[in-house]
Amino acid sequence: MKKYDLVIIGAGTSGAYLAREIAKRGHSVLVIEKNSRDKAGTKYDIFHIEEREFARLGIPRPVEGDAAWAFEFEKNYNSDPLCLYPKLQINPTVGLHLHEYTLLMNDLALEAGAEIEYEAEFVSLTFDKAGRVSGVKYIQGGEEKTARARITADCSGINAAARTSLPDGYGIENFTPGDDDMFYVILRYVRLKNKEDYLDSSTFWAPYKSWIAPCADPGGAIIGIGACHSFEYAQSVYAEMEKTVPLPEYELVKVEMGRTPFTRSPYSLVADNFIVSGDAGCLTKSVNGEGVTSSIYMLKIAAAAIDRAFKTGDTSKYALWRVNREYNTTQGAEFAMLRAMLVGVINAVSFEEFEYVFKSGLISDELLNALTGASVPPKALLKAFGAFVSGIGGKEISKGTVKAALGAVKNAARILVHYKKFPETPDGFEEWCAVADRIYERIGKIK
Ligand SMILES: Cc1cc2nc3c(=O)[nH]c(=O)nc-3n(C[C@H](O)[C@H](O)[C@H](O)COP(=O)(O)OP(=O)(O)OC[C@H]3O[C@@H](n4cnc5c(N)ncnc54)[C@H](O)[C@@H]3O)c2cc1C
Repeated sequence: MKKYDLVIIGAGTSGAYLAREIAKRGHSVLVIEKNSRDKAGTKYDIFHIEEREFARLGIPRPVEGDAAWAFEFEKNYNSDPLCLYPKLQINPTVGLHLHEYTLLMNDLALEAGAEIEYEAEFVSLTFDKAGRVSGVKYIQGGEEKTARARITADCSGINAAARTSLPDGYGIENFTPGDDDMFYVILRYVRLKNKEDYLDSSTFWAPYKSWIAPCADPGGAIIGIGACHSFEYAQSVYAEMEKTVPLPEYELVKVEMGRTPFTRSPYSLVADNFIVSGDAGCLTKSVNGEGVTSSIYMLKIAAAAIDRAFKTGDTSKYALWRVNREYNTTQGAEFAMLRAMLVGVINAVSFEEFEYVFKSGLISDELLNALTGASVPPKALLKAFGAFVSGIGGKEISKGTVKAALGAVKNAARILVHYKKFPETPDGFEEWCAVADRIYERIGKIK
């Protein structure tokens, strides 16, 4: 039986990032990955990373000519359902091939000294006499193997193979996300028939949770949709979208489908000798279900805490708790707040109201750019407020929607403040969870 400081389940972007960070600090790391190396990161082809994230997180930034690089663009439109009043947000974004980027991250982990065993499937966690996680059992080449670890990390993706197998009360919730807790994403890779339609920007239609964006082929595009419940439901929303949105003429090249968590992360991401991250910890962005960089943000915090835990010899949940506190009071709080806003608004606003919101200036280029860090000119805020008030007066926005929007703002503020008060130690955690549960009940889920 082999012994490691850290065993990681899953060599996706999350597992590979953590492996590199811990190995380069001089600790022994084993990653077990159920797929072969040539299947790594093949669940779909193209994903996006916002340009500013590469430097913020210290992750490799492929450039044109690199295998992982596919394209880049900076103009992002958010549009009304009829496409009459699109609003522009400038947010430089890089399109990457997931397989090649995953391999790049795997190679960086190997270079740092981590071991990766491919075609090695997690079977179960092992526990010591005191009932604490002590490593993993896995199958490779038909043989059952055991690896002992001071800390085990579940980065196995949406099915969360290890987290969901934890005994009740171990310290991390072991729920499996239901159909209402994930986005079913369908990507249509298309070739545009007319040259004048070739894209240098993306457009997002919030009411349909649909978008069109560039792809690796300059004459092509990806038309995507993400919806809760099922792929069938996502298809039906796509069909509705096609009725109002004037899509360019295209030929279908291929279709890819996948699921991404669209629910809150477990309140605690650490337990004795155990940590969860990536899709296994539902760490995806609460506005669009993207999860590569949001998980790496959490893992950056986790890597510092794990390093310290190894150095002090204390890998208990008390020692790792700083991950919860730092994550939940920053990105965790922001995601919780945005989820409350999004659920309230998307569930309440009708087709006609969406048209008004875009036409009236309630949503403007300036407000959208504020989401990427630009400051909002007071004039834009005043204009939005004016549009809101006159929308109520002119009955373009119904009383029910106003009530729901105000309720969403209240819930968003409540959950934000609550996450900012995340306990500094496990003491008081249960009371904190009980209050969070009550706020989430009010927030509800997206329809
Ligand atoms: C269609 C689609 C488009 C998306 N687009 C974007 C985007 O543009 N930008 C973005 O940031 N995010 C995007 N996402 C979300 C993003 O793909 C995920 O959040 C991210 O890939 C999660 O990485 P991960 O390493 O946590 O999990 P994964 O990439 O799923 O990796 C988990 C790894 O664990 C392995 N594994 C699973 N079970 C076991 C087991 N029992 N034993 C051993 N190994 C196991 C798997 O084989 C896999 O390699 C998209 C998702 C979908 C579905």
